[in-house]
Amino acid sequence: MGDAVTGAGGTPPSVVFGPVPSRRLGRSMGINNIPSKHCSYSCVYCQVGRTTNMSVTRRVFYDPDSILRELTEKLDEVRAGGDAVDYVTVVPDGEPTLDINLGRLLDGINSTGVPSAVISNSSLITYPDVREELMRSSWVSLKADGVRTEVWKAVDRPHGALRLENILEGIMEFSRDHSGRLVTETMLVEGMNTGTRDLEALADFLAKVGPATVYLSVPSRPPAEPGIGPPSTETLNRAYQILASRLENVEYLTGYEGEDFSRSGELVAGLLSILAVHPMRESAVLRYLSDVKDPEAKLGELVRDGLVGREVHLGEVYYLLRPPASSDGSGG
Ligand code: SF4
Repeated sequence: MGDAVTGAGGTPPSVVFGPVPSRRLGRSMGINNIPSKHCSYSCVYCQVGRTTNMSVTRRVFYDPDSILRELTEKLDEVRAGGDAVDYVTVVPDGEPTLDINLGRLLDGINSTGVPSAVISNSSLITYPDVREELMRSSWVSLKADGVRTEVWKAVDRPHGALRLENILEGIMEFSRDHSGRLVTETMLVEGMNTGTRDLEALADFLAKVGPATVYLSVPSRPPAEPGIGPPSTETLNRAYQILASRLENVEYLTGYEGEDFSRSGELVAGLLSILAVHPMRESAVLRYLSDVKDPEAKLGELVRDGLVGREVHLGEVYYLLRPPASSDGSGG
């Protein structure tokens, strides 16, 4: 979507999509509630390119009643086809809280009987009205790419009016008041927010927030800037271990496409699915593979084939999926 289709409160183009399978949300119907690239950030890894409409001012984009009519029609179609929708997720190619009608939209979604979810970059969580509106959603994902100003500025390239310390405070405040499921998402960008001290500081902050799950993702191609790619398996493993040492539920949002590996059998496919979510200790991997004839040989084969990475962290050997694929959410 571009500016040509932007109508201040007018009839939107088709902004309801899906349902699509989401690892976090099951079958999710998506709502792209603002035109492309209206955002308060211009993240180096953004899958929809550089931000062309940088703003921190909430405003009207589309008429929420039109969006809700389209949603109701699509939900009816899906249900008539015998399909189910687990969540309706507000996940535009920009920052959803810029939409001044977000609260009305969420009320409308909730009234369909399907719970609402929002994937936000957290930047406007400093506004009381944004916090109040997000409170209406039973599942909220907040971005946390770094807790040091230099890191945040380098990775997220925020609007000049934003202050990281206020955003972190806003996240804390929201986490205290929100009664639904709050998760966070951190995009790991090699060499930018993957230093050990930065990850430890992030882990300390998130431990205070107490998200239900801390999701880690990696840039998928093509990102907004050239040269931004997935971190090495060493970095992925180290990041996981640092965060998991302070937080209970840490998961990678890296994808795993099973069909390439189906010939290797269900057991191996199952192992790769787990390794896509988090690294496993060697002993756990061998236990998992204990039904194959020679677990150690099979593991060695997976490493040689380049499917699995082997990393040592604090004297312990871990395995994780390699290379990571894409995150399941680009917006926010
Ligand atoms: S990744 Fe999300 S927050 Fe970052 S620029 Fe893209 S749309 Fe905005």
